[in-house]
Amino acid sequence: MDSAMSVLILAHVESDGSLARPALEALTAGAGLAKSLGVPLSVGLVGADPAAAAAIAGGCGATRVVAVTGAAFTQPRYATDAAAAEALCRAAGAQLVVAAGTSRWMRVLAGVAQRIGGPIDTHVTRIVAEGGVVSVARWYYRQRIEGTTSRSERPWMLVVDPGTHEACEAAPAAVTVETLDVNVPDVRTAVTGVRAPAAGEQTIRPDASLLLVAGAGWTKKQPDGETHVPEAAALILGCIRATQASLGGSKSLVDLSGEGQAVLPFMTHLNQIGQTGSSPRHRKGLATCCHGEEPHVVGWRFITERRAINLNPNCGWAQGKTDVLYVADAFQVMRKVNDLLR
Ligand SMILES: Cc1cc2nc3c(=O)[nH]c(=O)nc-3n(C[C@H](O)[C@H](O)[C@H](O)COP(=O)(O)OP(=O)(O)OC[C@H]3O[C@@H](n4cnc5c(N)ncnc54)[C@H](O)[C@@H]3O)c2cc1C
Repeated sequence: MDSAMSVLILAHVESDGSLARPALEALTAGAGLAKSLGVPLSVGLVGADPAAAAAIAGGCGATRVVAVTGAAFTQPRYATDAAAAEALCRAAGAQLVVAAGTSRWMRVLAGVAQRIGGPIDTHVTRIVAEGGVVSVARWYYRQRIEGTTSRSERPWMLVVDPGTHEACEAAPAAVTVETLDVNVPDVRTAVTGVRAPAAGEQTIRPDASLLLVAGAGWTKKQPDGETHVPEAAALILGCIRATQASLGGSKSLVDLSGEGQAVLPFMTHLNQIGQTGSSPRHRKGLATCCHGEEPHVVGWRFITERRAINLNPNCGWAQGKTDVLYVADAFQVMRKVNDLLR
């Protein structure tokens, strides 16, 4: 093992001085790596006021905290984010650099790795150090195959997928913050404001503990020979709003709007789970009126506890793809569930 080995964690500080959950997860991953290797841990912070975040880093065992502050660096923008990350990496001189795979870091870190002359691996779900050898795991082919990679080149940048690690809960500990003097690069992008999507049924809520998936069956003719789309919408939204669950959909359901069929107006392709959709990491998932075909279920790879409601005892979920299959009418079940939630 390289005796000069050390680990650096890069994190953005939020405008209120806190660290967002993905950054806290990166702290867990990086601190665990430094501990397994028995090497020093540094934390590099970018943000207006790094004091509170630095104390959390100290609680995680960081012996060195370096920061880039200043108004220009608090705004998300390639030129300034890349300059800040490069300066932090150079100042820390670490061989292993860990960061959260947020959209902000993902946009710049490949470029930063190129500037500091090292490789980068993204979508890392696990970092293991055994006998001084570091390897990382990530999933390939839409979560069907897990591969592990080890590299000898340094510095090596490891970008960790949010939702794969516990958030660091270390008690704050005092640590000195070294503020770096970084020249603001030529900036052509002005950040004029932030427009965030309303957190509601139109987005997947990564922090929710439950994922409720709606399938195309909600819009199909029911045993009485009629469709009941308005009631389906009310049942799904009733459950989502009562539980603050995240709303997912099958491809067939979210495609319906493009095909001129009866639709649930709040479902869009942003909700799609599966091979050509997303692979969220909620703790529990409940599939309703969804057949459970493989291109859909592959998006459930990281859902820990799975349940499904389907009229058909031979649906895809019955082929070992769910922990519990309720062979039942989802209209009846969700009516009862919503009554109980009220
Ligand atoms: C290359 C490729 C990529 C794909 N990518 C994706 C993807 O990313 N995501 C995805 O979802 N699909 C994907 N698909 C499509 C996938 O194969 C399925 O066609 C799709 O998931 C089916 O959607 P569904 O289960 O909602 O609809 P359906 O297959 O129509 O199933 C509806 C289900 O609802 C049940 N049902 C009806 N009424 C009730 C009721 N009252 N109570 C309970 N159950 C009821 C029925 O029994 C039926 O099982 C992909 C396909 C291909 C070829």
